[in-house]
Amino acid sequence: MMTSNQNALRLAVADQTEEALPQSSNRPARIEPDICPFCSGTSWEFVPDKGVRPCRCRSSAQHIKLLRAANLPRRYSECTLSNYCPDKANGAQLRAFRLAHRLVKEYPAVDRGLLYMGTVGVGKTHLSVAILRGLVEKGISCLFYEFGALLKEIQKSYNSVSQTSELEVLAPVYEAEVLVLDELGASKPTEWVCDTVRQIIGTRYNDKKLTIFTTNYTDVRRGPTDETLEDRIGARLRSRLYEMCQTVIVDGEDYRRRFDA
Ligand code: ADP
Repeated sequence: MMTSNQNALRLAVADQTEEALPQSSNRPARIEPDICPFCSGTSWEFVPDKGVRPCRCRSSAQHIKLLRAANLPRRYSECTLSNYCPDKANGAQLRAFRLAHRLVKEYPAVDRGLLYMGTVGVGKTHLSVAILRGLVEKGISCLFYEFGALLKEIQKSYNSVSQTSELEVLAPVYEAEVLVLDELGASKPTEWVCDTVRQIIGTRYNDKKLTIFTTNYTDVRRGPTDETLEDRIGARLRSRLYEMCQTVIVDGEDYRRRFDA
């Protein structure tokens, strides 16, 4: 850390340098901060008659950085929108696919996320990862977390003295422009789990940040022992999700069975 003496020293040296410089036109030009002339540092470039698009200054190096930061699961490293093949006879899958496509195309002019809801193996995670990949291509900061894994990381970083979790884990979750929370409701719904999710979702909601969820739980109880999403995350949170996200049912047969065949 710099002491006040060191600070004073720096200032003194800077003053001398200023004095030593000749007051003529030979004076070195002032270096302007590196602000992009196309977007003035906002990262969004105005296109006449069209609106805004990610600025050209978002370089490929930044793209690689964004892709790394997105934390996309390795198992889904090949998943894109172009290799998601909806069953043409399945209206739900076609709709799920179309909405994913639309979100990528229209972002940032999108005010609600998606809640992909349905049985296992129908491509909910595939679509969510594909959306993030598409958004990263557009230069948008994204983050993927499997719900249970995120809770574990938060728990691991919990400091019992300060009774807070490290911001190191939570900051990216709050800050990502678009977050995917995969398998919502998969963890045992303790009070702590519900509080934590409410805090994450509430913070993102207040900051008007988009969140995409997947869940294997639906809103319909199919049998006396069956649990709904509301049973897993509580009525308040479910209600908040109605506001934040468009619910998209995805059904069909488990795609993984095709690998077997
Ligand atoms: P879910 O999240 O609904 O349980 P996943 O997205 O994990 O399902 O899909 C399971 C596997 O099947 C993944 O490897 C995924 O890429 C593949 N898959 C599922 N549906 C499709 C589809 N319509 N087209 C291409 N691959 C699919």
